[in-house]
Amino acid sequence: MTENNKEFHFDTRAIHAGQEPEPITGAVMTPIFATSTFKQKSPGEHTGFEYARTQNPTRLAFEKCIASLESGTKAFAFSSGLAAGATVLELLESGSHMVAVDDMYGGSWRLFEAVRKRSANLKVSYADPDHPETILSQISKDTRMIWIETPSNPLLKITNLAEVAKIAKTKNIVTVVDNTFCSPYIQRPLELGIDIVVHSVTKYINGHSDMVGGIVVTRKPEISEALEFLQNAVGSISDPFSCFLALRGVKTLPLRMHQHCSNAEKIAHWLDQHPKVEKTIYPGLTSHPQHDISRTQMNGFFGAMISVYLKTDMAGVRRALEKTNVFTLAESLGGVESLIGHPVTMSHGSIPLERRKSLNISDNLIRLSVGVESAEDLLEDLDQALKAI
Ligand SMILES: *Cc1c(COP(=O)(O)O)cnc(C)c1O
Repeated sequence: MTENNKEFHFDTRAIHAGQEPEPITGAVMTPIFATSTFKQKSPGEHTGFEYARTQNPTRLAFEKCIASLESGTKAFAFSSGLAAGATVLELLESGSHMVAVDDMYGGSWRLFEAVRKRSANLKVSYADPDHPETILSQISKDTRMIWIETPSNPLLKITNLAEVAKIAKTKNIVTVVDNTFCSPYIQRPLELGIDIVVHSVTKYINGHSDMVGGIVVTRKPEISEALEFLQNAVGSISDPFSCFLALRGVKTLPLRMHQHCSNAEKIAHWLDQHPKVEKTIYPGLTSHPQHDISRTQMNGFFGAMISVYLKTDMAGVRRALEKTNVFTLAESLGGVESLIGHPVTMSHGSIPLERRKSLNISDNLIRLSVGVESAEDLLEDLDQALKAI
C-alpha cells in the first residue's frame, strides 16, 4: 500500500501505508537497508536511490506511513525530535520573529533560547494559549512562524488549532504543531489547517522506548520542497534501524492509544479525588479550562499524560517518587510502560528558576506518562507511593 490511500481507515494504514513486500525476496516486512550508497546503471541513471543521506528505502517507507497517518502528503524523518524541530526552524530567514506557546518541552525552549537566538538571531515571543487572542496579540510584521504544542508540556494547556490556523493564514504565517503528546491517532493538525506537524517519534509513534527519532509532516508543496532540501542539506536524518523500529512500533499505535487513554482517564479521575493531591491537570477532566476544545480537537480522547500538584514539598515528592514499583522514575513518555517524572529536576531542568516560577512549574509538580499495563496495578502503585508523602 503506497502513498495516501485514503480509502483505507487509519488502523489499516498504520500497518500497511508506504509498505509493499520487498520485490526481490517477497519479504513482508520492510528490511533494514544498511547501505550508504546504491549502484547506478549509467552515470545519473539510478533507481531513485543515490546516497543514503538523501534517500533510504527503510526511511522512505516510514516517512510514507507517517505522512499518510497525519493526513499529509510528505514526511521527513530525523535523528531526534529536536533535530526535526531544528530543521523546521531552518525554514526561517535569520532575524525572523516567532510566536510560541509559553508552556512547552524544555528542550524546544532551550533550542530557541540558547541556540537559535545566538546563531540565527531568532526572536521569540511567548503566549499563553488558553485564549488564541493572546497568541494573536503577539504577532508583529516580522512574525513568520507560530509554534504550538498541544497539549503542552508539562501543564497540558490546549490551543484551539483551527482558530489559530485560520488567522495565521490571513497573515501568511507558517503554523507548526508539535503533536508528540497526541500522536496522529488522536489529533491531526493538518486537517485543521496547520501547515507543519513535528513529532518526537521517540514517544508514542514508536511507543516502545527503544529508539530516538523525529519526523516532520506537511501537505503544502512549497514547504515540502524546502524541507526535502533541508533534510538533505543539513543531514540530521533518521538511520534505517531506527526507522525499522518505528515502522514496527507504529503498527500498534491505535491499539496502544486506546489502552493508554482509557488507563489515563481512570487514573486522572482517581487522582482528582485523592486527599494528597492539590490539583490534577488532565484535558479529560471537566475542571480543565479547555476541556470542551480537547473534546472536539482530540478525536474523542484526552491523551495519557497527567500532571499533578501534590500537597507536599520537595522532600515529600522525593519520598513518593522513590516508592513507585510499576511506574518507573525516568525521563521521556509515550512508551508502553508507565513513567513518572519530576519536571523541575528532569524534563524542565534547562528552564531557569524565574521562568519556571512564572509558569507555575513548581517543586510539587509531577508528571505521569500512563502506559498500557493494568489500570488496577497502576492505581495500587500510586496509592502506596502517595502514602509515603
Ligand atoms: C521528547 C520531546 C521532544 C524532543 O524529542 P527527542 O526525540 O527527545 O529529541 C520534543 N517535543 C516534545 C513534546 C517531546 O516530548
